[in-house]
Amino acid sequence: MLNSPKHQGLRNILAKTLQEKGIVDVKVLDAIRQVPRHLFLDSSFESHAYLNKAFPIGADQTISHPYTVAFQTELLQLKKGDKILEIGTGSGYQTAILLALGVQVYTIERQLELFKKAQLFFKKAGYRPKQHLFGDGYIGLETEAPFDGIVVTAGAPFVPKPLLEQLKIGGNLVIPVGGKEQEMTRYTRLSERKFERKTYGSFRFVPLLENKN
Ligand code: SAH
Repeated sequence: MLNSPKHQGLRNILAKTLQEKGIVDVKVLDAIRQVPRHLFLDSSFESHAYLNKAFPIGADQTISHPYTVAFQTELLQLKKGDKILEIGTGSGYQTAILLALGVQVYTIERQLELFKKAQLFFKKAGYRPKQHLFGDGYIGLETEAPFDGIVVTAGAPFVPKPLLEQLKIGGNLVIPVGGKEQEMTRYTRLSERKFERKTYGSFRFVPLLENKN
């Protein structure tokens, strides 16, 4: 059922909706058309999988709205082959969108239950991130740095310094920053010490967990 005509049709409609909401990058829209989002959700949500909705994925977490995934991906300004770090693997849907764009993905999850679930799913569905790790996104992934892009898929109370330090010059960090509501923020590294900061409106993510054992 990976690519039934019914699901394909629904994905085409979803891509069109996202385009109407302002997503312009055709490669991102193509990735939305390709990735079978219904497989990332509990089967009881299948009939809603291609609506622009967030859903529970266990451990009090949610798969992000497709619009949010597309928007964050667009802000990364990816090129094929780029090395990308994702903080908050969750269901793995954002990971799969990144893989569909031909980039190398390193992804980190803080909750063991979700990490294990995504690990099994990636194997079964044939998704191959370069690394899928159980760990703390606040510290990034020093051993694989620098990255062309870093995307944080949970709301961060502040911008973790290691993530800025692990960006290549010219690279983008896309991170929702704030408390209950977050401001979508993009930091572009201009030089060793200089970053450009731009904001892109308010969003609501589950929190980026701190001090979790
Ligand atoms: N990209 C995911 C979004 C999941 S929601 C998707 O497409 O489904 C955010 C995820 O971030 C949750 O899975 C949550 O457990 C994880 N998370 C929260 N705090 C984290 C941290 N400090 N480090 C890594 N992952 C974290």
